[in-house]
Amino acid sequence: MYDLVIIGSGPAGLSAAIYAKRAGFEVLVLEKNPMSGGQVLNTDAVDNYLGLPGMNGFEMGMKFRQHADEAGVVFESAQVSRIVDHGTHKSVAAMLGKEEKEYDARAVVIATGASHALLQVPGEDALTGHGVSYCATCDGAFFRGKKTAVVGGGDVAVEDAIFLARICEKVYLIHRRDSLRAAKILQDALLRCPNVEVLWDSVVEEICGTGQVESLRIRRLKENASETLQVDGVFIAVGLHPNTQAFRNVTKCDKSGYIIAGEDGVTSAPGIFVAGDARTKQLRQIITAVSDGANAVTSVEKYFNNFNKFDNI
Ligand code: NAP
Repeated sequence: MYDLVIIGSGPAGLSAAIYAKRAGFEVLVLEKNPMSGGQVLNTDAVDNYLGLPGMNGFEMGMKFRQHADEAGVVFESAQVSRIVDHGTHKSVAAMLGKEEKEYDARAVVIATGASHALLQVPGEDALTGHGVSYCATCDGAFFRGKKTAVVGGGDVAVEDAIFLARICEKVYLIHRRDSLRAAKILQDALLRCPNVEVLWDSVVEEICGTGQVESLRIRRLKENASETLQVDGVFIAVGLHPNTQAFRNVTKCDKSGYIIAGEDGVTSAPGIFVAGDARTKQLRQIITAVSDGANAVTSVEKYFNNFNKFDNI
């Protein structure tokens, strides 16, 4: 029986793990991917983490993991399928290859983050990996000197367009409205890129190509006109979906699937806590995920104390 099982090894999970070790808990981190760090691994430059301006995301993820390793955190690669809530303890069921294994713990922190949303247009599925990508920093180099498009108007889309502008001959940013959701500082940087053209009030209706992306069929909403845009690649950045499907039967979620919890990470299920992008919150960033991990473990400590210390649980 562990004191705490943490599900997920992004910034929230790793921060929770370090705090858990410092609190003296027997802790295990279950991670789906053998590489810790979560979304941060796919980020080119993280410019808003206090004290580390411009740090490469991959390097940051590796440093977070190194810190957890040095604290003595134990990791296991396993895909969690459900939590069974037995009241005073929880069983976390996970697939290790083809075998299911159960891990018992007095408390659980869910730190499974969120994944990219799909555009859900014809051609997207068939051409994924053949010019359709969800990660500019991972795949951008394949489009050196070529024409690309980015779809979306949030921080990720604008960051992707700025990143691609350094590599590609031309970048179109296709946004369904006439103003961007992205932070002002990113918008200003975007406007300074001479090879980026923003297509306002426009949506992608189809991604076209035989075996490889060749063009996009876009609709100009104000004119209600269809247009073909020749591009070699398209980067889709239309938001996130929380990775909470496996937990919706044990914790209350909002209509988008985010686990309902405040800054303390306390969910509707006593003994089950949430940290990072998977919870309802205003701002999903590395710095807030890291602080969530610390807060959730502080709540775990309070929860244990309410049971008159660990031995009475
Ligand atoms: P986001 O902020 O939710 O933006 C998604 C964008 O995609 C919006 O502009 C939205 O349009 C558009 N969109 C959604 N569905 C669409 C569809 N079906 N067709 C066309 N466009 C669609 O998501 P995000 O950019 O992935 O960012 C996720 C979170 O991570 C945010 O909280 C963001 O602040 C954070 N983040 C922070 C940093 C940083 O701190 N440096 C970097 C990256 C991300 P509308 O605007 O019309 O809704």
